[in-house]
Amino acid sequence: MTQVPELFGSKVFDDRVMKARLSADVYNSLQKTIAEGQRLDLSVANAVASAMCAWAIENGATHFTHWFQPLTGITAEKHDSFISPAPDGRVIMDFSGKELIQGEPDASSFPSGGLRATFEARGYTAWDPTSYAFIKDKTLCIPTAFCSYSGEALDKKTPLLRSMDAINKQALRVLKLFGNTDVKRVVTSVGPEQEYFLIDRAMYERRKDLVYTGRTLFGARAPKGQELDDHYFGSIKPRVQAYMNDLNEELWKLGILAKTEHNEVAPSQHELAPIYTTTNQATDHNQLTMEIMQRVAWKHGLVCLLHEKPFAGVNGSGKHNNWSIATDTGVNLLSPGATPYENAQFLLFLVAVIRAVDEYQSLLRLSVATAGNDHRLGANEAPPAVISIFLGDELTAILEAIESDTPYEGVEKKKIKLGADVLPRFTRDTTDRNRTSPFAFTGNKFEFRMVGSSNSIACANIMLNTAVAEILRQFADELEAAPDFDAALRVLIRKTILDHKRIIFNGNGYDDAWILEAVEERGLLNLRTTPDAMATLLDEKNIAVLTSHKVMSEAEVRSRYEIQMENYVKTVRIEAIAMADIARKEILPAVESCVDELARGIAAKKAVDESLACGHEMKQLRKLSALTDRIDEATEALEGAVTELDMKDDITEQALFIRDDILAKMAALRAPCDEAETTTAAKYWPFPTYGDLLFSVK
Ligand code: ADP
Ligand code: MG
Repeated sequence: MTQVPELFGSKVFDDRVMKARLSADVYNSLQKTIAEGQRLDLSVANAVASAMCAWAIENGATHFTHWFQPLTGITAEKHDSFISPAPDGRVIMDFSGKELIQGEPDASSFPSGGLRATFEARGYTAWDPTSYAFIKDKTLCIPTAFCSYSGEALDKKTPLLRSMDAINKQALRVLKLFGNTDVKRVVTSVGPEQEYFLIDRAMYERRKDLVYTGRTLFGARAPKGQELDDHYFGSIKPRVQAYMNDLNEELWKLGILAKTEHNEVAPSQHELAPIYTTTNQATDHNQLTMEIMQRVAWKHGLVCLLHEKPFAGVNGSGKHNNWSIATDTGVNLLSPGATPYENAQFLLFLVAVIRAVDEYQSLLRLSVATAGNDHRLGANEAPPAVISIFLGDELTAILEAIESDTPYEGVEKKKIKLGADVLPRFTRDTTDRNRTSPFAFTGNKFEFRMVGSSNSIACANIMLNTAVAEILRQFADELEAAPDFDAALRVLIRKTILDHKRIIFNGNGYDDAWILEAVEERGLLNLRTTPDAMATLLDEKNIAVLTSHKVMSEAEVRSRYEIQMENYVKTVRIEAIAMADIARKEILPAVESCVDELARGIAAKKAVDESLACGHEMKQLRKLSALTDRIDEATEALEGAVTELDMKDDITEQALFIRDDILAKMAALRAPCDEAETTTAAKYWPFPTYGDLLFSVK
């Protein structure tokens, strides 16, 4: 077997390959473009394209594609081969700088949320040289941004890059005030921990609900669930291990730093975490990871479920977005330093994040709002829908001491004079991992835990970067104007703690009492569903922050509202139709067969001896027969509701109708079906049960 270091990045046109294959001049101009975002001139682009093409062909590629992230949430690609006709009737393999820099996919079928109506219809893709090109199958994939010709972003990458610029710009202003003049760039980094389920492919194929919607729409609980906690960090079963080995290799070839893997809480649930990297690369890598996870599973006779809630009553899957800000000189701004100044700087960035999360709770919440994630948030298995920050007891005590100007009762008892004292060294809070917190400080980074397992991490990071950029802007404005920097800094930090400490909560986020306290006493937002959360995107303050930092134009914001709501409506509509279909064509006939057999059995027994009571059989027959009536009624009601939904033409109205009506009708159909499953003889049940799905991969 090839050794890992050799394997790693073998399918990536990375720095090592560029250095080896580009002339020094070309390499240097490209580096300048990457570092400073300068435009690439065509002669350089031609040279890069030609080197890329030769490298790709040597590595088995025949095609190239501009790889992009439209607002569907998955990635898109349209392949073109390298061939170009030669005069002698043969072909040569060719790839130009123009083809590298810009592409024109037919954009008309990607969601644009109304942008297409108001703006130029066509879209183009533009090379993002900050993310390396790579080979997938036989195709050279070029990471690109996707925009309309009038410059509106039609993808998730463009606003992400803009948000990284925004936070860079404001953080640099703040750093300068602390005398850090050598810092040229500040970047945010992310390590996304990805949860997923693995189930048997043959069983999956017999579950239409999984095939159509990615989650089970029916299914009674299995006798065993996750109550024994015997799966979490348990030994990995051989079939799963073989999958993980293969998956790691594929990811390593693509330069993805797959690092840890373990079993998760629910049976058949697992997690994969890479080593963190720059946010836009982490986003590309996470999209690729999700794709490769599914492909490799298929090859192993498995299916990788990325849905947030594939099984009712069993923990769902999320993605922990570990986020930090660092300088190009290698300083993590969320890591407490060793000198008084570094500590004051750390505290300023810390309180900036605290304030950003408090002021822009709704932006963070809506960045993870999908129909799938609605099943998770607030269901006592994932963070609640209310956003709060976990800081750990020690750091909280330090902030309290600063706020009240009283001695910190920590390791050493003393008053903390910002900018004069070294902060008491506080230990990373490892005692209580507090999995219940949506936004946890874990020593030198924040972990945003509300992201859904199938979500692109782009949205969460766009909002996080932008919100923090805005607070840093306000801080910089204030501090730049202050005659006495140290005094102003002290006042600012104290005031920020005082004004925003309501968002800090170290207790149990699953506790009902917390939700009550959060909403009633602290005035925090509890946006329980996607339509509730999305409505806040159009709040003046949210539009203002996104537009003022040039992360999105107002038209882009509005288009994203439309698209996310449309996505919610379409997703649930498909689920509703699939439910009705499965109830009618699979569940009702199965239960009826069972009833028929019971009836025939009873008749046959009575024919032998009329005095036989057939008590159990009669009881079963009556129960199942009554259930078929309930299933039929509930199916009709759901079908009627879908018809009513289709008569509404406003997307907001549709989403609200789903929230208030259709979801309840789906639950009303599921209940009698699941009840019937527990009473119907196993041989009649038309598809694999929860027990089959969750415990069959060995
Ligand atoms: P766990 O949460 O299981 O304790 P870690 O906290 O070590 O594991 O890491 C979880 C994820 O956080 C990994 O993807 C890791 O690379 C990432 N991570 C670690 N440090 C940072 C950092 N400074 N910035 C962003 N992500 C980080
Ligand atoms: Mg973690």
